[in-house]
Amino acid sequence: HGKMQGRNGLAVFTPDLGKKLLEKLHLETALRKAIANNELFLVYQPQISLTDHTLVGVEALMRWRRPGIGLVLPSVFIPIAEESGLITDIGAWCLETACRDIAQLQREVGYELSVAVNLSPNQVHGVHFQQTIERALSVSGLSPSSLEVEITEGLLMRDSEETLQILEGIQALGVTTAIDDFGTGFSNMSYITRFKVDRLKIDRSFVSKCLTDANSLAVTTAIIALAHSLNMEVIAEGVETVDQATMLRDLECDSAQGYLYSKPLTLADVSAFTRTLHEFGANGADRSKWMYQPR
Ligand code: C2E
Ligand code: MG
Ligand code: MG
Ligand code: MG
Repeated sequence: HGKMQGRNGLAVFTPDLGKKLLEKLHLETALRKAIANNELFLVYQPQISLTDHTLVGVEALMRWRRPGIGLVLPSVFIPIAEESGLITDIGAWCLETACRDIAQLQREVGYELSVAVNLSPNQVHGVHFQQTIERALSVSGLSPSSLEVEITEGLLMRDSEETLQILEGIQALGVTTAIDDFGTGFSNMSYITRFKVDRLKIDRSFVSKCLTDANSLAVTTAIIALAHSLNMEVIAEGVETVDQATMLRDLECDSAQGYLYSKPLTLADVSAFTRTLHEFGANGADRSKWMYQPR
């Protein structure tokens, strides 16, 4: 009929849709091979104490170097991994690699910094998730207290009882938990009285506007107060300027991560970053750009 027979009539819809589907299928097939072919790797973003500017930990962030295409970011491939179920294997690889890398880094630098690993909701619900964590810890020799898992508010609100039991099992091992992108979820926060979270991460959207938007400042202030009144730590993500860091320090936020301090780094570069911190000491030249007036 008319529409379908017009010049390139089908071209209006189908090729575009078909192309998208095909692209997705290609992506999934390629992702399936990515672990075995060593195409996935982790970068680590430093987390800095706002009290003394020491490196307290790192967050592991996944990257995919796709042959013939280049670097693919997690916003592209994590959703595909979740939909296809590949997240179980990829997530296990991520946990094990992060634990091994940070155990090695600890041996190198001689102190106990932590590593935060992002978890997908589907990964946590997968079978044997606790064993996955236990295996990552035992093969790496990393102390459980050096591992933090980052979860979303969405996960805590979805079929909560089962989820909470899984998370409590992980906590019983000594692993700590943080809520990522805090403040951006649908805030039914009743879970927070039922489950003892160790740390809140203030979402970048609030941090980046806390100096220019009164509402963002109010939310940031409230999250810090909430965290501390419930004996949780609080970290700000996406800190890009000294003025933001100063504001956060004044609000008594515990720590921060963001481009001000460092972009996500390869393991070798984290090691170099740590050595620089130690060599220069608290007032070192390399850290002068982070420094704000003491209170
Ligand atoms: P996230 O966990 O909230 O990670 C923070 C994101 O902000 C990272 O993007 C990081 O590179 C970026 N970022 C850090 N500091 C700054 C800053 O100062 N300014 C700006 N503009 N951006 C900053 P990335 O690496 O692209 O990761 C995006 C998201 O993908 C992560 O958000 C996380 O939700 C997810 N993701 C990353 N790695 C994994 C993983 O291994 N597993 C799972 N399940 N999700 C992951
Ligand atoms: Mg995160
Ligand atoms: Mg985050
Ligand atoms: Mg975020």
